Amino acid sequence: MTHSLQDRSVVVTGGSKGIGKGIARVFAAAGAKVVIVARHADQAAAAAAEIGHGAFGLAGDVTSLASMESAMKDASARNGGLDVLCANAGIFPAAKLEDMTSDDWDMVMDTNLKGTFHAVKAAVPYLKNSDQGRIVLTSSITGPVTGYPGWTHYGASKAGQLGFMRTACIELAKYGITVNAVMPGNIVTEGLAGMGEDYQRSMAASIPLKKLGTVEDIGHAALYFASKEANYVTGQTIVVDGGQIVPESLEALNSA
Ligand code: NAP
Repeated sequence: MTHSLQDRSVVVTGGSKGIGKGIARVFAAAGAKVVIVARHADQAAAAAAEIGHGAFGLAGDVTSLASMESAMKDASARNGGLDVLCANAGIFPAAKLEDMTSDDWDMVMDTNLKGTFHAVKAAVPYLKNSDQGRIVLTSSITGPVTGYPGWTHYGASKAGQLGFMRTACIELAKYGITVNAVMPGNIVTEGLAGMGEDYQRSMAASIPLKKLGTVEDIGHAALYFASKEANYVTGQTIVVDGGQIVPESLEALNSA
């Protein structure tokens, strides 16, 4: 376990539930001062109270740059600056291509991709003043590596985050800020639970480790990218998926 997150100021967007809450919990346990940002202030506050270690909840909507600027300002004022942004907020409503509306497309892009830009842009003025500035994006295997019917917009947004990262990391290197991304597979969250037990069972069957991931599995990968030890790592991704993307066929999976 790294000790380099002790007393570091961390913002986690979408930290009130699911993967973001797992990231917030792992960082708080590592001694970081965590601010959770989500649209529903009550849920952000409840998650912060549950996590403890001085975690704090703030209202913020990643689809608005002004809202992100306000959240980063408040978080930085509260914790004496900002060292780490975990840009995690995201949505995954399903719509098949032939049924998808332009509004469906915009909602997913505005939250997942433009929302990443807003959070990063608003955080950079504060991260520049840190001696350990870190940005960790939550992308996905869906889009950059795999596909899933109903998620053309989602997959495009998650692949888009990696394109964003590869130029942002070059632009921000002069400030010593690193930008990396975690690519989760199927992780058990409130959101995924809503997709039903059959979905979860069939997904587990297609994963070499035969189980879905936990939100803390993603939190630990994000913690590495945020650590002092990852000082020389930027523009990189890590897939955390129990081996899901590896088998080249069902035969490969089942003949082991
Ligand atoms: P989740 O359980 O539904 O939680 C989503 C979080 O994002 C909530 O805290 C939500 O709070 C917040 N949020 C949504 N829209 C927002 C907005 N406009 N502004 C600020 N916060 C917003 O989702 P999750 O499954 O943990 O997913 C989190 C991230 O992991 C997403 O980027 C997703 O693409 C990625 N991911 C998830 C999985 C998986 O298996 N679950 C796999 C791969 C990647 P409010 O509603 O209060 O705003």
